[in-house]
Parts: sequence; structure tokens; C-alpha cells
Amino acid sequence: MEDAGTQDGRKPIIEIIEMHKWFDEFHVLKDINLRVLPQEKIVVCGPSGSGKSTMIRCINRLEEHQRGKIIVNGTELTRDLKNIEKVRAEVGMVFQHFNLFPHLTILDNLTLGPIWVRKMPKKEAEELAMHYLEIVRIPEQANKYPGQISGGQQQRVAIARSLCMKPEIMLFDEPTSALDPEMIKEVLDVMVDLAKEGMTMIVVTHEMGFAKTVADRVIFMDYGEIVEENEPNAFFDNPQHERTQLFLSQIL
Ligand code: ADP
Ligand code: MG
Repeated sequence: MEDAGTQDGRKPIIEIIEMHKWFDEFHVLKDINLRVLPQEKIVVCGPSGSGKSTMIRCINRLEEHQRGKIIVNGTELTRDLKNIEKVRAEVGMVFQHFNLFPHLTILDNLTLGPIWVRKMPKKEAEELAMHYLEIVRIPEQANKYPGQISGGQQQRVAIARSLCMKPEIMLFDEPTSALDPEMIKEVLDVMVDLAKEGMTMIVVTHEMGFAKTVADRVIFMDYGEIVEENEPNAFFDNPQHERTQLFLSQIL
């Protein structure tokens, strides 16, 4: 393959090349180019409706792109992709609304994927689930139902559920924006831990403290385009583009 390497010789784990997407006539993503190295942390920000969710949903094929290329961990996402379950298992996703199954216990929410997708024996899946509940600091909630725990705890369960699939990459779509303020930190703390462990992460968030401490790069999107990209200090202290300046003046 030509030019897949980077300056420091490492190959990207995610490559998005000249990618476009339409919803019918609506051109929602325009010429997206993004290369993410293993263990890199990317924060994506931008106004509502700018295409942030659609872009990250393309990375695990919850949405299809129409033009350009997306290559994830060596697999190009094409129309005739057979191994979509493999891609989904490699790319974990955490949503704004936690999307837990309300009629299943926390433990059963966590073991579902390992048992049905990974074909893991139940006992092993439960041990794995308990391990990740420890990691997100709520092992004592294992036998409760989602409705019996707080939003912050539910989001940590959602993160643990993704981790049970042993993903190579984690995508987060505004993971704290549905939470009460006092619960935001407990979720961000878990994400910081994950970042320190070396997880490759793309995080759509407007939590600028998180972006400054964790991100290698911050990407700003507007009207379906990546308008600006920089390391966090330069991004926040010296935004180049007028649209970025306007956005930051509204959220900071
Ligand atoms: P963001 O996450 O930045 O708020 P989205 O990616 O959710 O933006 O949406 C980008 C644009 O695409 C918005 O104008 C939204 O209304 C539109 N859109 C999102 N999903 C769909 C869909 N399934 N069908 C049609 N339009 C959509
Ligand atoms: Mg969104």
C-alpha cells in the first residue's frame, strides 16, 4: 500500500480519505480526511448538526458513506463488507443515551455481547464483566437493573459493556451531555483512565477540560467539514478559523 505510514513510521489504525456522505440530497459530510494512529486520542467538537455523530457512526458502519475510503484496523468499509460484526467488535461505541437493555441486569447487559458474539462461556463472560465493572468502579451494582442506578453509573456500565468486547478503538458520542453536572466527572474520570491505558479514542465532546488534558488533537467540524485541526493548546488558545473562534467564544 502506498503512503500508509506516517512521519514516525507508525501506520494509522483509522484512515478516512476524501470521504463524503449524503442523506438523500443532503450532503452531510464533505471531503473528510482523518488519520488516527494507534493509541491516539482525538476530540471532535463543533456546533449541533455539523456532522460529528454521522462521522463517527461511519467508522463502525452504523452509517454508510458514499464516496472516498474508510479503513479501520486494516479492513476497508465497503458495500460488500462481510465482516461487519468483526468491525463492530473492534470498534466500541458509547452514546449520549446509554442504550442499556432496561429489562436486563447490569451483569446481563455486559455478558450479552461476549456470550452471543464472542461465543464465550457464561461463567467466563461474567468474570470478564465483573473485571470491567471494577475498572469503571461500580462492581457492587452488578445485579441491579439500569433503572435502579444513576445516569453516571449507567454511562459507566455502557463503557464497561463496550470494553467487554475488547475493542481496539473506542468512539464516544457526547457521553456526558445527558448527565447531571455532578455525574459528569465520574464518567470523564473513567475515560481518562482508559486513555492512560493506551486506548485509541475518538471523543465527540464539548468538555474542554477533558480535551486539554487527554486529546492529542482537537478537530472542529462545521457544516459537514473538518474546518480546523490542532493540538489542544494551540486549538483553544489560538484558533485560526473564524468559525472556530466564533464557536469557542460561545462555549468557553
Ligand atoms: P451533530 O452530531 O454534529 O449534531 P449529526 O451528525 O447528528 O450532527 O447530523 C448532521 C446533519 O445530518 C444534521 O443536519 C442532521 O439533521 C442530519 N441527519 C442526521 N441523521 C440523519 C438521518 N438519518 N437522515 C437525514 N438527516 C440526518
Ligand atoms: Mg451528535
